[in-house]
Amino acid sequence: MAVAEQLKTIFLREADPFTDIVGQTHVKRQLASALIADRHVLIVGPPGIGKTTLAKNVAKLLPAIEVMDCSYHCLPNKPVCPECRNAKTRRKKKIAGLERFVRIQGSPDLTAEDLVGDIDPIKALQFGPLSLEAFTPGKIFKANNGVLFFDELNRCPEKLQNALLQALQERMVTIGSYDVDFEANFIFIATMNPEDSSTETIADVLLDRFDVAYMTYPESLDRESVIVERTGKKFVDFPQKLLLHSLLFVRKLRESEKLEKFPSVRASIGIYERAQANALLDKKSAVDLIHVKDALVSVLAHRIKLKPSAQYLQSPSEFIREELRTFMKQQGLDSSGEEVP
Ligand SMILES: [Zn+2]
Repeated sequence: MAVAEQLKTIFLREADPFTDIVGQTHVKRQLASALIADRHVLIVGPPGIGKTTLAKNVAKLLPAIEVMDCSYHCLPNKPVCPECRNAKTRRKKKIAGLERFVRIQGSPDLTAEDLVGDIDPIKALQFGPLSLEAFTPGKIFKANNGVLFFDELNRCPEKLQNALLQALQERMVTIGSYDVDFEANFIFIATMNPEDSSTETIADVLLDRFDVAYMTYPESLDRESVIVERTGKKFVDFPQKLLLHSLLFVRKLRESEKLEKFPSVRASIGIYERAQANALLDKKSAVDLIHVKDALVSVLAHRIKLKPSAQYLQSPSEFIREELRTFMKQQGLDSSGEEVP
């Protein structure tokens, strides 16, 4: 059964198949819809909001399957790789859903050979320059009958984008000078952070191969607190009211007009863990406002970026301190962390 067919059965059965992600109903629906239609998906959103977790969740949903014991995970009734076609491999094996998930981390150093494969010169001498034995398959083939996950697609050089385009366009890959090309059947999920300025632009022809699912910061304060408590480490008690105030402060920063890079959910988790650690160092069994305050600059300052117009006036740390003073005043918080009556 094709990967999309397997996922369709699950999506129609489960109310929320992506249980690793709290909320985000909209992006989940977009993703499920695109996958049912067997279309490639680009998940777009700021860093640290769970794009990778969401993609991995797709792999977790995939059922275990029986494949040939080759590096291409060929289906026994549909051998596509040179190894299986030459009938050298006859053994079968069972692989779990997560083993059907192949991750590629986008980077400027990534080459088309990493993706598609390469010719081993020593083996080429031994078996002949056009022999199939000399070919070392790239990651794209390891995703055959599974999910190819491309993290931060916009960090890849143009040359690699072109190789990828061919694979997506024709669902075929030509192996260098080899006269063998074969079908690689996989679901392709990529991510992109639009705020990332140190990157290549993705060519329109490549973008045209994708449907885009937009992912945002957690929709509400409550959802963010559930994520933080579920993901973060737990050392001491963190009063709920204080936690909500701490997270609200982070969420307010995301609305600031002075910023061009905003604190992620990872920053929220950082504050949650560091405030507890501070309490622990003070030998306290519960977090107090002072412990949160002590954590803010260390967790937040390097995770935000001030707009050029604001950069000359204050440093990120000064900005955070000033925002905190304003926030505490607005929220009516005194130094004990309780609201002033
Ligand atoms: Zn094979």
